[in-house]
Amino acid sequence: MQDHPGIPFNKPFLSGRELDYIGQAVRNGRLSGNGPFTQKCQLFFRERWRFNTSLLTTSCTDALEMAAILLDIQPGDEVIVPSFTFVSTANAFVLRGATIIFADSLAENPNLDVSALEALITPRTRAIVPVHYGGMACDMDPLVALARRHHIHIVEDAAQAINASYKGKALGSCGDLAAFSFHETKNIIAGEGGMLVVNNPEFAERAEIIWEKGTNRAAFFRGEADKYHWVDIGSSFLPSELTAAFLWAQLENLEKIQARRLEQWNRYRNRLSAWAQDQGVQIPQPSLHSSGNGHLFYLVFNTLQRRTQLIDMLCRHRISALFHYQSLHRSPFYHNRHDGRFLPQADRYSDGLVRLPLFYELGDDEIDYICDLIVSQG
Ligand SMILES: *Cc1c(COP(=O)(O)O)cnc(C)c1O
Repeated sequence: MQDHPGIPFNKPFLSGRELDYIGQAVRNGRLSGNGPFTQKCQLFFRERWRFNTSLLTTSCTDALEMAAILLDIQPGDEVIVPSFTFVSTANAFVLRGATIIFADSLAENPNLDVSALEALITPRTRAIVPVHYGGMACDMDPLVALARRHHIHIVEDAAQAINASYKGKALGSCGDLAAFSFHETKNIIAGEGGMLVVNNPEFAERAEIIWEKGTNRAAFFRGEADKYHWVDIGSSFLPSELTAAFLWAQLENLEKIQARRLEQWNRYRNRLSAWAQDQGVQIPQPSLHSSGNGHLFYLVFNTLQRRTQLIDMLCRHRISALFHYQSLHRSPFYHNRHDGRFLPQADRYSDGLVRLPLFYELGDDEIDYICDLIVSQG
């Protein structure tokens, strides 16, 4: 392993059929959205995870923006979002004028601390947006109970959560709405791509209209309307058939991709557990009630300095390890708008968390090499 060419953090998986299916889409002469490949993908989601209404989108960001429109978020409405997450989780709601109430993460993993949420709810609270970090399930039962009690909607940010579950239920099927990502850094990719899942049937019809630029075009193409009209607000949220064709080539290989990623995730865990315990470094724990998807493997150091040392050490060996989100409540855009609460866990993950390389082609020998370096020098 000494003279390896370098280990990147991520390398997109390609099944080899992507160009075939894109060629097929071109030959179909049907390139815009909601064509045969889009429908094939959406049917796959329905059959596999019982996502009864799923709409492919151009990104998870777009799916979250659709969710904010669907919930009719208005200026002054409050939306509860973890601070340790990607920008889009909050930004989608800020675009509609919402005030973001940032919540802290758990000590045991970066997911929302559900037990601390009730104190954040006010009469203006409209939605809670749990993020299933690294494909690890948030504790959905108490979260759903809390939301019901206060008549608040749940939008799952399931960007990283494809094929993961909570108590036997697919992540993305527990909230009123859920947003997935097929960005090239996720397990299943389409370059850029995403999906909105509508679990609450109350939102199903309007979701399709918002998706199709505020028109009832989808209903028209099904023969349910004799013309199509402008009936609501919306935007161009649907991806072209080229994107859907690429995605189909990935979905066909879902089992293979997932099996390999879980193997790699477990290999990291087995190799690093004893060292982590000894060094006081936090690593992801398998959960009793949920099954993960091997999306990412991370270490959490107790200081920024120790994390930087590890990243630098791996970098000297041409291995790319990356830190992750910077707390949104302290971001240049939001810190003046934040209510000032201290969110210590979010800040701890911002400063201490580092992600190790994890992608389909990463070999066992490479994982062992990375782990040996960490254990001997970390
Ligand atoms: C990747 C990601 C997003 C954004 O996904 P895009 O498809 O790139 O828009 C949103 N939230 C989380 C938690 C993510 O990991």
